[in-house]
Amino acid sequence: MTFEDLGLSPDLLGAISEAGYTEPTPIQAQAIPHLLMGRDILGIAQTGTGKTAGFTLPMIEILAAGRARARMPRSLILEPTRELATQVAENFAVYGKNHKLSMALLIGGVSFVEQNEKLDRGVDVLIATPGRLIDQFERGRILLADIKILVVDEADRMLDMGFIPDVEKIMKLLPPLRQTAMFSATMPSEIKRLTDSYMMNPRKVEVAPAASAAETVIQRLIRVRGGIAEKRKALRDLIKSENVRNAIVFCNRKRDVKVVDQSLRRHGFNAQALHGDLPQSVRTATLEKFRAGEISILVASDVAARGLDIDDMSHVFNFDVPMHADDYIHRIGRTGRAGREGHALTLATSADDKYVQQIERLIGTKIGEVSTAEISDEVVAAEPDASPLEEKKTPRKRSSSRRKPAQKTETKTDAAPDAKPVAAAESQVKKPGTKETQPQKDQRRPQQKESKELGMGDHVPAFLQR
Ligand code: AMP
Repeated sequence: MTFEDLGLSPDLLGAISEAGYTEPTPIQAQAIPHLLMGRDILGIAQTGTGKTAGFTLPMIEILAAGRARARMPRSLILEPTRELATQVAENFAVYGKNHKLSMALLIGGVSFVEQNEKLDRGVDVLIATPGRLIDQFERGRILLADIKILVVDEADRMLDMGFIPDVEKIMKLLPPLRQTAMFSATMPSEIKRLTDSYMMNPRKVEVAPAASAAETVIQRLIRVRGGIAEKRKALRDLIKSENVRNAIVFCNRKRDVKVVDQSLRRHGFNAQALHGDLPQSVRTATLEKFRAGEISILVASDVAARGLDIDDMSHVFNFDVPMHADDYIHRIGRTGRAGREGHALTLATSADDKYVQQIERLIGTKIGEVSTAEISDEVVAAEPDASPLEEKKTPRKRSSSRRKPAQKTETKTDAAPDAKPVAAAESQVKKPGTKETQPQKDQRRPQQKESKELGMGDHVPAFLQR
């Protein structure tokens, strides 16, 4: 299957090939023909499957004919977070480079003046978060009567964030004769109700969800006795003892994102926080610095990090065990991409047992455990007083802290033969997919037994293999 086979125009094909894509991903191959025919679709797919191009490409094609009137956008894309909205806008700019479509972003944290000027000129594509859109609508700044295409992206995340009433309110404001595409990684009953009420006989297109992490992700569980202070110490020890290049540290609460970030920085680590309370400009700048390697550790909440297209991360640390097992898969999927080795380390106290069990049920295997004592020993054995990701206040002479995990085993074994080395613990970890334990009750994910990464189906784009 090629993009030509999907019936896209030469202008669009040119932009796609400049983006470096050689073939459509499974979700694109399924969704694009339906959308080009004007049908409603329900896409069961999550970030990483190429779903954004799956709806932006046909939208560009459909909107190419026609012109927008002042304050009456012709299409609307709803996103749960500002970051996702911004990413979709970036996608539009790439794929729409040979078209003259206008686009506006309606998200919190961006000045009203700038947004209003754009809306007044007329936009073909409006990308918005639900709250800001309703706000602008209620101020009379925007009319929704000309919307021909609606996309609701990450619907299950909208649900988690309490946005469904807003989404429903918006759907009621739109003309009934329109095309609707909804994307969701899962189908909770509330989303099903929305699709039944506001979509016209939608075609269901589906790619297997990533019920297992990539085999290249080495997962470990670190049992911590105590509370948040002990967890912070364990996190520092882990960062020091691991061969960390760059990492995301996930916390369940915004409050803890701030605390952990400050604590890491106080201890000299090159960290920054990413959470929903930060001004948009700060969030964007932080992400850019992280992508550029100027920041090594991003401390983030699930919501802030959801869908961020940051590849090639060496480590994911779960400062907290996520309360939803799905989030665990999302989090650890940030590392071990495109065949590279990645590490996912989860700190757990006894209060987390229930959540750990849920995760292990979902991934179908037990996560190998390491104790904090082993890590502390490891830090001492490796390098007593320096952290690999320290901000460079004083020049570092040694590079030996960036040891390979295999070397680490030897060091540790030499230093303290009676203690179990971290790397040895790793070898006992059954990676997801190579499980012996079968998932118990959770049958939602039919592809669970597959041992490969399922996010893009069998498709691994050529550019990812480079
Ligand atoms: P998404 O799931 O839309 O967030 O896309 C995930 C990543 O896949 C993004 O970095 C896209 O640029 C990339 N991508 C989308 N479509 C293709 C394709 N057909 N071939 C290769 N990469 C793609």
